[in-house]
Order: sequence, then C-alpha cells, then structure tokens
Amino acid sequence: MTNILNTYPRSNLTFSHGEGSYLIELNGDKYLDFGAGIAVNSLGYSHPILNNALTEQAKKLWHVSNVYNIPEQETLAKKLCELSFADFVFFCNSGTESIEAALKIARRYFYIIEESKTKNKIISFTGSFHGRTLGALAAGGPSKLEGFNSSIDGFVNLPFGDHDELEKAIDENVAAILIEPIQGEGGVSEVPTHCLESIRKICDEKNILLIFDEVQCGIGRSGKMFAHQWSKVVPDIMTIAKALGNGFPIGACLTTKRVGDTMGHGTHGSTFGGNPLACSVGCSVLDLMNNEFFSNLNKTSTFLIDELNKIINEFPEIISEVRGKGLMLGIKCEVENTKFVDEARKNKMLTIKASDNVVRLLPPLNISIKDCSTALSIIRKVCKNLS
Ligand SMILES: *Cc1c(COP(=O)(O)O)cnc(C)c1O
Repeated sequence: MTNILNTYPRSNLTFSHGEGSYLIELNGDKYLDFGAGIAVNSLGYSHPILNNALTEQAKKLWHVSNVYNIPEQETLAKKLCELSFADFVFFCNSGTESIEAALKIARRYFYIIEESKTKNKIISFTGSFHGRTLGALAAGGPSKLEGFNSSIDGFVNLPFGDHDELEKAIDENVAAILIEPIQGEGGVSEVPTHCLESIRKICDEKNILLIFDEVQCGIGRSGKMFAHQWSKVVPDIMTIAKALGNGFPIGACLTTKRVGDTMGHGTHGSTFGGNPLACSVGCSVLDLMNNEFFSNLNKTSTFLIDELNKIINEFPEIISEVRGKGLMLGIKCEVENTKFVDEARKNKMLTIKASDNVVRLLPPLNISIKDCSTALSIIRKVCKNLS
C-alpha cells in the first residue's frame, strides 16, 4: 500500500543518487540516463558548479516574498532577455504555470489594447502537450478535459501541419497561436522553418500573438538556447521551464515590452515563483551553456544521429527513423515503443516513450562521446533482442 495518489505508472526502480549521465540504484546498479528527468537534468547529475550555486544560496536566503526586490531574480531575467527576443520575464515554478501565464498575458493584451471582451481564442495543435492545469489541458485539445467534466471556451485545436485548416480558423476573435517549435510528448515532431514563418506572417497580418511553448525544447535541448532560434522567427510570448533549474523547480514566461506592459500590479503572481534558490541555480545553468558547450553538444548530436542511422540500416524492422534536433531526438519504432523502452531498461539504459510510437532520447546535454557510444551499443543490443 502506498500513500501516493496513483497518477503515475511507476517502474520498480529506486535511485539513490546520480553522477554525470548516470543514475545509481539503491543496490548500486548504474543506469545510463537518456531521459534526464524528461529533459530536466540537462547538465547531468551532481554538477559541482550547480551544487555549489544551490548550497551557497541555501546558506543565505531561501525565500523572500515577491513584494521585495530579489536580486537573483533580476539577474536571471536579464540573462534570459539578453539571450532572447524578450524584455520582460514572469517567474513561476513549473511548465504548466508558465503556460497559464502566457494564456493570461495574451488575453489581457487585447482586453487592454483593444478593449475587446471577445478576442480570447487560443489556437493550438494536435499532438501538443502544454501541461496539466485546466487552461493548459484545454490548450492540449478537448479530449484532455473530458474526464474532468470540464469544457473551457476560447480554445481551438487544429490538426498539426495543416496550413489550410489554420487559415480557415482565423477570425477576429483569435488572440494567440500556441505552438511547440519541436513537439516533445507528441513524438519529437519538428515544425519546419517555413511553417513557423507562415504562422508568424498570419499573426502579423491578423493582429494575433504568437506563443512558443519551449518548456521541453528550450534551454539548449535543441542545440540552440531556444529551438525557434534555428529560424529567424520570434514569438511575442515564450514559455520555458524543464531544464532551466536542472531539476530545481522553476518556470518562466517571457514577453516583449509592448505585450508585457498590459500586465499591471495584481494581474498575476506567484508565492514561490522567482525565489532566490531557483534563480541562483537558473543563472548558473545559463552561464554553463556557453559557445563551447553548444559546439560540443552539436558535435555529439551529429555523432549520435549518424550512428543511429547505421543501426536503422541494420534493423529496419525494429527502428525506422531518427528525428529531432540537437539532443532532443526521437526514434520511430516499428515494434511497440514500450517494448523498446522496457528492453533498454533491462540493459541499464533509460529512455522515454512519446506519442506516434516514438522513443525519446534526451541525454544530458554535456554527455561525453564515450557515454553515447555505450548508449549506442545498448540500442544495438535492444534491436537485436527484439528481432
Ligand atoms: C512538460 C511540459 C509542460 C508542462 O510542464 P510541467 O512542469 O510538468 O507543468 C508544458 N509544455 C511542454 C512542451 C512540456 O514538455
């Protein structure tokens, strides 16, 4: 009997600690982690600089209310704005909260600027995942709300990749288009640059805000700081979370001055958001993601993709495609993806399933070529065992 609400199917693994790209079980068994807490532990486990950032701040101050100045929060916001299109940052504690902030900001903007009481529609796409709170669930598509006797108006879910349907859905009450530049849960599906460009064009022509959900693909995962930076398209609002604290809970919603100026005192808030502990860690995470880091990451990515394609050639009846960018990779399975994940786990490698029968490979972004080689030999063995 457990006292934990039964919302997760859990494997029987229990980890006591982590080192670099490995998680170590209570009995001492080491698992090569190609899940990284679902794109969270992007600098691996027990990183000395991050451990130091957390413990040094812990000795000084853990929490102070947002009614006071928080220098660590100021510094992290400044870094994020320097790295992106944004002028303002709102800090929260999770991905779903960053989405709620984005939804409120987008609707607030038209309420204030156009004094509109009806321009509230948020367009999102099939296969997307935006979180578990009610607004974020609504953005994830109507089926996600069904089991909770809820329907929330102002959301339109369209087929992913269907430009004509998007054109048809546009009317004067559309406030924002919300999209993940690379869908994570949906199966590592990348939105091509020309699609991002035409969505941006629609937004500009029809006075619609563009929201990028980079909760999973952001903070280095794609091989750039933000996945949309592979294109020249910029959003009006962006959500981030997962990797920003390398495991310390933090989320953020970024926006421009034009849009953010409509969020005055009392329009939004968070008790814990932007606390000194989370922000100190966040600053150190961003500092570690320098040019050399990205150059290594992209070399590792090329190596992994090339080697995975060799395995695909050897075992086309097991895996048939590698997708994604940077170290946000997905392998399309021809067997059930859960079988692949289970077999990899038996061989001491952790991976994560996604929709569309994909297995996600999300290793720490600073993983060594040696650890990648170990992973590749495990993947080869998994394919052999499933053949
Ligand atoms: C994980 C995720 C979320 C939700 O984040 P939580 O921290 O679990 O609330 C939102 N959007 C995307 C793209 C995600 O991958």
